[in-house]
Formats: sequence, C-alpha cells, structure tokens
Amino acid sequence: MDNCLFCKIIAGEIPSTKVYEDEKVFAFRDINPQAPVHILIVPKKHLDSANEIGEDNLEDVAACFAAVPKIAAAEGLSEGYRVINNCGAAAGQTVMHLHFHLIGGKELGEKIV
Ligand code: 5GP
Ligand code: ZN
Repeated sequence: MDNCLFCKIIAGEIPSTKVYEDEKVFAFRDINPQAPVHILIVPKKHLDSANEIGEDNLEDVAACFAAVPKIAAAEGLSEGYRVINNCGAAAGQTVMHLHFHLIGGKELGEKIV
C-alpha cells in the first residue's frame, strides 16, 4: 500500500526496532512507548483497520495473535500484559494499518474494560 507508514516499516524503507517476524507478521517497538514494553504487532498484509477483518484475511489476523505469546515470553512478560486495538479515529487510531499494541512490563492499573 503506497504511503502507508507501517507498510514502509515492514518493507524496511523506514527503520524500526524489530522484535519478531514471520511469513505473515511483523512486530516492532512503538516509537512512543506507554509502558516499559510497548510493541506493535502488524499483519504484513495491509488492512486499514479491524473493520477490514474478514474471511479473506483470517490467517493474517490469527498469525498476529499467535505471535502474541511468543513475543510476550521473549519480553519476559510472565506477570501479564495487555493487547489493544484502536479501530477508527474516534477510538484513537492514528495509523491506518491494522495493528495490535502489546503492552506490559509495569502494573497496568487503569482499565477501560
Ligand atoms: P494507534 O494510535 O493508531 O493505535 O497507534 C499507532 C502507534 O504507532 C502509536 O502508538 C505511535 O506511537 C506509533 N508510531 C507512529 N509512528 C511510528 C513510527 O514511525 N515508528 C514506530 N515504531 N511507531 C510509530
Ligand atoms: Zn500498510
């Protein structure tokens, strides 16, 4: 997808700190971390947001979730962690390439759900 920040990161055109990669998934550290561990897990296939999840891309999305416990273990998040998706501007989505925030490494006290 032209002009997509995360597609450029996946392609290596924009540098990032990669923590995990497989055939379908790329994961890297958030540039503005909200916790000691703050990683963005993205499908290599461009999807604008969670609104585009469907039959055509279930394997790509499932691969993101399959990566979660692997990355959490590698980051030492044995006490727990949170996985967040912001879908749409009103929910705070600022980059229109589907991504899941993996956050941990501190007490995650404030809960919205
Ligand atoms: P959203 O607000 O869309 O849910 O999350 C987008 C995330 O991307 C934000 O947490 C923001 O800090 C992160 N981000 C924005 N630009 C860059 C970048 O160039 N590199 C990295 N590593 N993270 C970025
Ligand atoms: Zn993209």
